[in-house]
Amino acid sequence: MIPEDGSLRSWEKAWGAFVKAWRAAAVTRPPKVTEGTPLRAYRRPRGVKTDQILVHESTTSSRESTVRVLRRRNKPKGLGVHFMIDDEGGITRHVPISKATVHAIGHNSRSIAIEVIHNYYGSRAKPGDRVIDAVWADRGKDGKKHYIVPPLPQMESLWRLVCWLCQDPRDDLPLTFPQAQTIKSGPCFKWGRSKNHKLPGVLSHSASGHSDGAFPVHFCLLRRLGLSSQDAYDGTIKAAKAATRKNRWTQLPDHDSGVS
Ligand SMILES: [Zn+2]
Repeated sequence: MIPEDGSLRSWEKAWGAFVKAWRAAAVTRPPKVTEGTPLRAYRRPRGVKTDQILVHESTTSSRESTVRVLRRRNKPKGLGVHFMIDDEGGITRHVPISKATVHAIGHNSRSIAIEVIHNYYGSRAKPGDRVIDAVWADRGKDGKKHYIVPPLPQMESLWRLVCWLCQDPRDDLPLTFPQAQTIKSGPCFKWGRSKNHKLPGVLSHSASGHSDGAFPVHFCLLRRLGLSSQDAYDGTIKAAKAATRKNRWTQLPDHDSGVS
């Protein structure tokens, strides 16, 4: 029954707020995670909280080649990551989250590492890949700063994994995004090194001066702000293209959640 006195408006408002909150709420169903090849792990130092999730992009094309590259680097013990996500969204665990691994200087003891298996150099694009101009991306062999957009199912899988990790009561992982900040022009995201990279939350490797992980983290941030999967994907592509050489900040939807 539709009320005649205008209270429909407030009802609509309340429903809208509920839907938004529901979308922004963490995913309750845990994602499917399978056991992968074990990688380098060490005991977390006593007294150090696990309070960061650090997202990488591998520049490799498969789980096997990623394992090979990680083991070959930083010899003799190699590097590691806790999770890998392939381009279809399949998740594998390579290090237990109770242990630390070596993946990013300054972040190892306190973080969980997620490797998005993504060969993002524009020069390596295959037919059907979506390539965008991106000032924040690494220069490819063709000398251009082009970035291949990762597939949506992979991004959605990352989001589910991030939500699941942040729900784990054993850790102290906040579902916040230190690369998002309110500056003069409002809430924005930094496509590049961020002075906030030591804060707890979900970060890309690019926050500490590398160039990987920014796109996936921006996608998760938009999901956190309540956008649907497709809107978060389209919004991230738009923002990734909007960053310029002089201005690495791009606008976020006006919403206070997750932005410090
Ligand atoms: Zn990285």
